[in-house]
Amino acid sequence: MSSKGDDGMLETTPENVKGFRDKWDVYREDEDNPCWKSPDEVIDIQNSNLAQQMELVAKYHPYYKKLFADKGIEAGDIRTLEDLEKLPLTQKLDYMQNAMDFRLAPEQITPRDILYEVTYTTGTTTGKPTPFFNTTHDMFATALQMRRMCEIAWMTPQEVVLNLFPFGVVPHIGFYRTIWYSAAVGMRLVFALTGSGFPEFPVHNSMQKAIEMAENAKATLISGIGSYERRFFMEAQKQGRDFSSIRIVLALGEAVPQGMRDDIRERLADMGAEDVFISNAFGFTEMQGAMPECTQFGGCHNSSPDLYFLEIVDGETGKRKPEGEVGMVAVTHLNRRGTVLLRYLLGDIGAIEYGVCPHCGRSGGRLVIKAGSTYATRTKELIKVKGTLINPEILKNELSNTDGVIEYQIVITKKDPEDPYSLDELMVKIAAAEGHDTGALEKEVVDKVRMAVEMTPKVELVSMADIFDVNTSLKAQRVVDSRPAEN
Ligand SMILES: [Zn+2]
Repeated sequence: MSSKGDDGMLETTPENVKGFRDKWDVYREDEDNPCWKSPDEVIDIQNSNLAQQMELVAKYHPYYKKLFADKGIEAGDIRTLEDLEKLPLTQKLDYMQNAMDFRLAPEQITPRDILYEVTYTTGTTTGKPTPFFNTTHDMFATALQMRRMCEIAWMTPQEVVLNLFPFGVVPHIGFYRTIWYSAAVGMRLVFALTGSGFPEFPVHNSMQKAIEMAENAKATLISGIGSYERRFFMEAQKQGRDFSSIRIVLALGEAVPQGMRDDIRERLADMGAEDVFISNAFGFTEMQGAMPECTQFGGCHNSSPDLYFLEIVDGETGKRKPEGEVGMVAVTHLNRRGTVLLRYLLGDIGAIEYGVCPHCGRSGGRLVIKAGSTYATRTKELIKVKGTLINPEILKNELSNTDGVIEYQIVITKKDPEDPYSLDELMVKIAAAEGHDTGALEKEVVDKVRMAVEMTPKVELVSMADIFDVNTSLKAQRVVDSRPAEN
């Protein structure tokens, strides 16, 4: 069968989706898939898993055991999703500073407790990535979660996947989960191994090489970070490549608004691929994967509501917001053995609906769009640049500690300011002290920023007044996000 054809291109209706699910053994035989239970049944599963998770937490979770004791909370009082509201929210910082204490530490290690894999979250105050631990139990759960995610995004066992995620210095969850979802469904996988490189071990490939790989392998599915994928397609189009095999683009790491999708689709059509499904997904390490769309802008589905409960909360009071209202997104783990988080604030603002999806008919909950075409909006303190969360405090610390830098400003902009869908660019404006070798200073700033956030900044030498004019401002603005709003 041709990879292009009657699957991903069908209109997303509950009937068509059921037909798709029945067609592929790997999905049809997954009879316990909670997405195909009723919303009430999903709540029952979540309650029962939460009660079991709380028993483990009460016994073996160093951080929460202490927190509950300090706050006079009885873990046994938390039996249902309703009860969850009695627990305080867990802040990113709590976890970052105590990552080891967020692991279950059972007295007796059974096979399911064996440490299987460590993934990392980005965006920390220390500049160090925070480890997130998966045991054997979690690894198998994640594999099934990946399979269910693929079903939602119309992927089939016949895909030829190009893994276009960066092979980064800090393991990128997208890179590793692309391996796992391909494995969990039985797809073929081609590794682009792009990324900033590691001179001692020259294993990385250029974008050019990745383009050739996609064409030669007749890739049907491109898996990567949205704006990087777009650049990849732009370059391939310039070269007149044959990309007619492509039928799905899984675009992660950032919101992919309508205009950007249209742009990608037009370029792909020019290379022979018609009606490509561009599935955006909201993903994060603390959920070990991504929440995909079943149809464009149809909402980001929780593919494993038995593993994760998502709620929208008031970040200050911890009170749960009514369904559909905008607030802070918090995740609670319902069935994990390694790192376990309860009511953990992801640092994103969004809204959720728990009913049956009107497009595909699945339960489990999905993030829905409330502003423009973006599911979740970044919060103030952490900024997402090129799909990675960075904490400006790390940069401020580095720059203010650089000899010869007398004023600085961090500017997040677009490579092409005229093009809101072009790649993000990190720019550092610096004013140099007199007598300093500006060439050496520029290099030092680039190196420091790269070390701190793994991103190469553009450095611009300006005058002090350009950054901070004492005649017109009360204080210097250290971080400027000049990217146009997405819509
Ligand atoms: Zn749906």
